[in-house]
Amino acid sequence: MELFEVDKDSESKKCGGCNWHVDHVYLLAENQEQADMAFKESGEEDDDPRGLCGDCMAKMLMEEKYDVTAKPKAAERTATA
Ligand SMILES: [Zn+2]
Repeated sequence: MELFEVDKDSESKKCGGCNWHVDHVYLLAENQEQADMAFKESGEEDDDPRGLCGDCMAKMLMEEKYDVTAKPKAAERTATA
């Protein structure tokens, strides 16, 4: 999975973790399409879709002990090209 920014075009975004209005919200997904879909689906019940702010995302990754690979994919691609 990778981290994707969602709801880029919206003026006002709210973090689903801390409820703060933030400049960027993120979701974990396999690709951007999936992230956008998950974002949309998160708003189906209350018409208020949410991602997580950087702070909440980092907290979740830490608390759930996610395995984070800190290797840029772009660099990988360049290396094999
Ligand atoms: Zn937050």
